[in-house]
Amino acid sequence: MHERTSHLGPEATGPAVIPRTEHRLDPDRISPSALEVVRRLVDRGFAGYVVGGGVRDLLLGIPPKDFDVATDARPEDVRRLFRNSRIIGRRFRLAHVFFGPEVVEVATFRRGSAGPERAHPHFERTAAGRLLRDNLYGTEQEDAFRRDFTLNALYFDAVNGTIRDWVGGFDDLRRGVIRLIGEPEARYREDPVRMLRAVRFQSKTGFPLEAATAAPLHRLAPLLTTVPPARLFEEIGKLLLFGQAQRNFRGLVGHALLNPLFPWTAEWLETDSEGLHRALVERVLEASDAAPGERADRSLVLILSGFFWGASRQYMRWHETEGMDRVAAMHRALHVLLREQQKHVSIPRRILDPVESLLVHQIRLDQGTAQPVANRLVTHPAFAASLDFLKVRAEVGDAPAELEAEWRDFAGAAPPMPETAGPPPARRRRRRSRRPV
Ligand code: ATP
Ligand code: MG
Repeated sequence: MHERTSHLGPEATGPAVIPRTEHRLDPDRISPSALEVVRRLVDRGFAGYVVGGGVRDLLLGIPPKDFDVATDARPEDVRRLFRNSRIIGRRFRLAHVFFGPEVVEVATFRRGSAGPERAHPHFERTAAGRLLRDNLYGTEQEDAFRRDFTLNALYFDAVNGTIRDWVGGFDDLRRGVIRLIGEPEARYREDPVRMLRAVRFQSKTGFPLEAATAAPLHRLAPLLTTVPPARLFEEIGKLLLFGQAQRNFRGLVGHALLNPLFPWTAEWLETDSEGLHRALVERVLEASDAAPGERADRSLVLILSGFFWGASRQYMRWHETEGMDRVAAMHRALHVLLREQQKHVSIPRRILDPVESLLVHQIRLDQGTAQPVANRLVTHPAFAASLDFLKVRAEVGDAPAELEAEWRDFAGAAPPMPETAGPPPARRRRRRSRRPV
């Protein structure tokens, strides 16, 4: 164990400092731009550390996405120090320093909501305890304590190669455990998105959640319904598009977190006695994991189609019994389901429209190629994705295998298929021609 002098409190004296000989973080693997930012801050008398996900990932041997810098310099100071910088952010202000295509995010130390200043006006909260604003500057120690998980709160001092640890993150990382900083329930209430982050870091590191970090998840899961749906969409992307979709999905289901995000999917999975829907969802997630980060929109279209297929078909059947024709019944079912779904996770139209087309197409594809609309169907921009989805259905036994082949042959004889599930080419052309030349 590393000597740690305190928890957050007046008796605090300093962080545990891990010398360069005791950790495996190789500074050569940090982006030169981030190191340059730190060097200039320190030269001007400010503190400057590389912090967060970059430090965590390097210690774990995972290539980091990016590097963030924490400093006691105010955003205006950073702006003055770097001509190539810009101040951004509404909830809290940060500086972005640009090095060609690379951006180094420089954040001023902030304090979180723990401690006596809980009632401070800067910590606006909802009745449920969710933090609306937390834009109060603080010390390095306070900055460490306002972070989410201990392994995300390590500060790398590039000047002397040490790691500064206020929260026991280095030991947790060595032991291999994900631990929320502070009192878990309060931290989840402040920001329920931390529950999704817990699942994501568990998948990413392969470490288990420490017992007290995991325990409240099930009970607090409904708090996710209080988070703005647009922010949840961002998190969904991070969970489902970067190579850990299957693990993340299992984590969400295991901790009852799927229900507040995708209630119809969760319900459908529970009633899925043959395991067919589960297999279908697993299969589309597997496809996303096989090509992480590639064609993200198209991956998401397939995944969400998988999420909504079971329930929408069920509702379609109800509408059919009311006398609607099958395609109209599917349209109706999707209209209602997707409208309600939007209240949970705000899915942009560029994703939602192709999902809707793809699912309606399944009903048409099921009717075979000998139908009057078949020719029109194969030229639809969502046809390629619809066929991919039919293939997945065939693989899990939800459609006859010959049907997919029949459509492929038919489409092969027809005019070429558009590549993506984007807007129809005709519309694109029209838009372009409207631009002034
Ligand atoms: P990733 O690899 O996904 O980028 P990350 O840890 O870098 O992981 P970011 O969302 O980029 O995650 O956030 C950077 C840092 O900011 C985190 O490491 C953590 O210290 C802090 N942080 C981010 N989100 C929260 C949150 N909701 N609550 C508290 N601290 C957070
Ligand atoms: Mg990051």
